[in-house]
Amino acid sequence: MSGTHFSTGLNRNDYHPWMCRTCRLPRPDVTSIDFQIDSRSPELPYMDSDLFLEVAFARRDFLERMGQDVIREYLYLGELRNCDGDLLKDWVTFRGKNRIILRGRKRVHKGKTVTGYRCCDTCGAIMYHGEAPHYLCPAPPAGVRILEGGAGTLVVTRDLFEKLSPKKSRDLDFYQLPVLEEPLDDLPVELKCPKPA
Ligand SMILES: [Zn+2]
Repeated sequence: MSGTHFSTGLNRNDYHPWMCRTCRLPRPDVTSIDFQIDSRSPELPYMDSDLFLEVAFARRDFLERMGQDVIREYLYLGELRNCDGDLLKDWVTFRGKNRIILRGRKRVHKGKTVTGYRCCDTCGAIMYHGEAPHYLCPAPPAGVRILEGGAGTLVVTRDLFEKLSPKKSRDLDFYQLPVLEEPLDDLPVELKCPKPA
């Protein structure tokens, strides 16, 4: 489930303490992220994200439909401020304690495979690209009910999805993710990056 738009990014070139200096994405070891958006308020009604910096945020009351104990167990929350520096109390940034790559399909364009992944040498982050429709492979760890599948995307179990009961709109997209035993992108089941020194 994701709400996505590209913010214009006034703070795009700033260095943030949670950011990897090389890939400029949140480092894999980072927990909660405090973030400032470049507008008065988020543009989308439930969930939004800065796709460029891969920081996701959501309305607190929307996430809380899943129950506070569930949120505490699976998400790191952080503060969201607007362009004036005011704390947006109804919003939080979120980061999954468990993360998963939404796998895709292999795509060949003009004889070249354009799907694949690379590793950030500095922080060990995996940057993956595969064609939609997406699926999960390997299966999420047993018992885990919420995963973050990249910026602004929440992967939740069906019972939590029913608690969220989101309404599909132009701004909020969701779909069922199949779990496959074999990936369709010609890559290994487990994508691994070497641990940075
Ligand atoms: Zn990095």
